Amino acid sequence: MNFAKGSLGWIEVVCGPMFSGKSEELIRRLRRAEIARQRVQIFKPAIDERYAEDHIVSHSDLKIRSDAVRNAAEVMQKVDLRTEVIGIDEVQFLGPEMVEIAVRLADMGKRVVIAGLDTDYLGRPFHPVPELLAIADEITKTLAICMQCGNPAKHTQRLVAKEDLIVVGAAGMYEARCRRCFEPELAHREALKERPETVAKT
Ligand code: ADP
Ligand code: ZN
Repeated sequence: MNFAKGSLGWIEVVCGPMFSGKSEELIRRLRRAEIARQRVQIFKPAIDERYAEDHIVSHSDLKIRSDAVRNAAEVMQKVDLRTEVIGIDEVQFLGPEMVEIAVRLADMGKRVVIAGLDTDYLGRPFHPVPELLAIADEITKTLAICMQCGNPAKHTQRLVAKEDLIVVGAAGMYEARCRRCFEPELAHREALKERPETVAKT
């Protein structure tokens, strides 16, 4: 009798602020799978075109080729049935459907390795990362180093005054900050300057 049931699906989530090494960690895990000759497919949102459309590039310049997708449904469409390991970077841009799709892929026996920001520029949970953490088999939280004081940094500090949730950028527009040095109001300062009565109240 054959008891082999195929490989067990699995969801890993790597989360933390910008500059904390999420992409490095994702690339490291996917490279090892490739070296072991597993079939790997890698996706990133089309919105994040900072360095290259067809590669994930870390802030330390590690690279791995990837496929650009607009949403979670497109990940599902592009997955090859023979794929064993699926890597996804910047998952916070792929929408709430990513949760159900990650579960579906794991139920199909695939190892799903996901990286994304756990909080936004105001320090609020960045969906769907909290939901992905809840359904994950394994979680890694990465920290950066605070650019103000050198303590462990869990926050992404926006340095430009823009109130949109998504403003894609890297060094110069964002920096890592610890809980003490994090100043979420910095992103609103410009807007406040234009409305002095609001400033007076704060
Ligand atoms: P993430 O995907 O979390 O944004 P990356 O993997 O792209 O992070 O980049 C991590 C790299 O960023 C580090 O190895 C280091 O070279 C660089 N880096 C820049 N600023 C910082 C910082 N404040 N703390 C730690 N690493 C930083
Ligand atoms: Zn600090």
